[in-house]
Amino acid sequence: MKLNENEKKLLEEVKKFSENKVKKRAEEIDIRAEFPSDLVNDMINMGLFAMYIPKEYGGLGYSLSSLMETVRIISRYCASTSLILDVTVSLFAEPIIQFGSPELKSKYLANIAKGHIGALAITEPSTGSDAVAIKTTAKKKGSNYIIDGMKTFITNGKEARYYLVSAMTNPSMRHKGMSLFVVERNFPGVRIGAEFHKLGIRGSSTTEVIFENVEVPEENLLYKEGEGFRIEMETLNVGRIGIASQAIGISEGALKDIIEYVKTNPKIREYNQFKIADMINKVMSSVRNYEAAVEYSESGKNSPTLSSVSKLSAGDNAVDVTTTALSILGVKSFDAQYPTERRFREAKITQIYEGTNEIQRLVIARELIRNKESFLET
Ligand SMILES: Cc1cc2nc3c(=O)[nH]c(=O)nc-3n(C[C@H](O)[C@H](O)[C@H](O)COP(=O)(O)OP(=O)(O)OC[C@H]3O[C@@H](n4cnc5c(N)ncnc54)[C@H](O)[C@@H]3O)c2cc1C
Repeated sequence: MKLNENEKKLLEEVKKFSENKVKKRAEEIDIRAEFPSDLVNDMINMGLFAMYIPKEYGGLGYSLSSLMETVRIISRYCASTSLILDVTVSLFAEPIIQFGSPELKSKYLANIAKGHIGALAITEPSTGSDAVAIKTTAKKKGSNYIIDGMKTFITNGKEARYYLVSAMTNPSMRHKGMSLFVVERNFPGVRIGAEFHKLGIRGSSTTEVIFENVEVPEENLLYKEGEGFRIEMETLNVGRIGIASQAIGISEGALKDIIEYVKTNPKIREYNQFKIADMINKVMSSVRNYEAAVEYSESGKNSPTLSSVSKLSAGDNAVDVTTTALSILGVKSFDAQYPTERRFREAKITQIYEGTNEIQRLVIARELIRNKESFLET
């Protein structure tokens, strides 16, 4: 990872914050399913919401590497806390950085840099993997669009001030009829529905968000009508690297804990040394794939394959690594005093959101068979 001196300094602060504060709070955040407002305020004060936002919009203009490494470090202790930041920046701010008009950038990026929370709202009750099958519509009326529909399983649903919402502007055109809109929480007609009680990442809110006759000014259309699906896919190319960094952080946390545990128990250490070797092998292969995806993306190129491979390997390996850690703990694996059972529950989501790992396999195979991948030639 290529990091400049300022980025390295900030990552040292992130390590201290994670080891001193996040670690202590992680268990109660999980048990109480509590949104960690204190840690979010700390992240805002440290500049973590501002780090990736360009300087001209009030940010620090730091690299993708430094954002991804931040998510990885915090995830070693609490994947809910890292997710709140990751979704706001990678899924809400990133598409505005890439495709927003100067007005959208000035208005929303500056607020994200100050610590406002954002969300990406794609999934609906009737569709997840098939992002084109959405029923939410946006109809032009004068200088506004009227948005109607319901989104579900939206991360940051409760705390977000802004949602980037997918809606059909021309349903008969399928993916070429989809558009994205920035919708503010306080626009009349926006309502938060049910909140989900989850298996893991319980400190991050996941809710329904309902849009009833919501008037959205036409300036809040991101880029152009009909470009929503393409922007969504490009956004997920970056977002999936963020999930890889989260999954790697979870795996590294599990590995570190288990090494400390076996040091205190020579018999268990002897029985399980091969399992520990397999764990580190999996973590290191995830790290290689993730670093390759970050580097390629930072070189200004776009590789759906590399980003899908990074998510696929890191997610599957996180589930394997945390499962192995549980087996080494034996009966203690069911004891919530040991963070491993929480990490196991956190790991599972990295195989599901931002496209399930089955969908990542589809993307990888399709892209390679169509021979669209220039990274194979380098
Ligand atoms: C905690 C959490 C947070 C989330 N946050 C967000 C968010 O912030 N914003 C948002 O928009 N969404 C969010 N989601 C939704 C998430 O992205 C979807 O759950 C995910 O894309 C899968 O969709 P689905 O659950 O409807 O699965 P389905 O599409 O119903 O798939 C069910 C199963 O079939 C498989 N499958 C489906 N289609 C295919 C195919 N073509 N080929 C092979 N296998 C296939 C899937 O892999 C899966 O195993 C979140 C979900 C969770 C659980």
